[in-house]
Amino acid sequence: MSKTLFEKIIAREIPAAIVYEDNLVLAIRDINPQAPVHVLMFPKKPVPRIAEATPDDHKLLGHILLKAAEVAKKLDLRSGYRLVINNGADGGETVPHLHVHILGGRHMAWPPG
Ligand code: AMP
Repeated sequence: MSKTLFEKIIAREIPAAIVYEDNLVLAIRDINPQAPVHVLMFPKKPVPRIAEATPDDHKLLGHILLKAAEVAKKLDLRSGYRLVINNGADGGETVPHLHVHILGGRHMAWPPG
């Protein structure tokens, strides 16, 4: 199977602005930011989307959320931020490798578009 975009970034085959990395996850700046701060955090394990995560992934999923909060703190998003996971076509997913968007630096409207 061919590598996802994020697997290529993990393998350093495609450049990215890395914000955080550990043995389980990588966080990079989004190439098309939708807010002053827009970071993507994804697991090194290529889970396609949250709908395809399994009970085996439960520690990994918790790790992603805890590290996303740590990265938001490190990026000084003191007045708030939004975490987003797009799932499938109607969810707005374009990269089939689970990722959490960390959006901040401006007020986030509700409902989302
Ligand atoms: P989604 O639409 O939820 O699947 O999010 C995919 C995100 O990946 C979008 O916000 C894109 O702007 C972002 N993206 C696409 N290519 C790159 C890249 N080479 N480096 C960083 N972010 C990217």
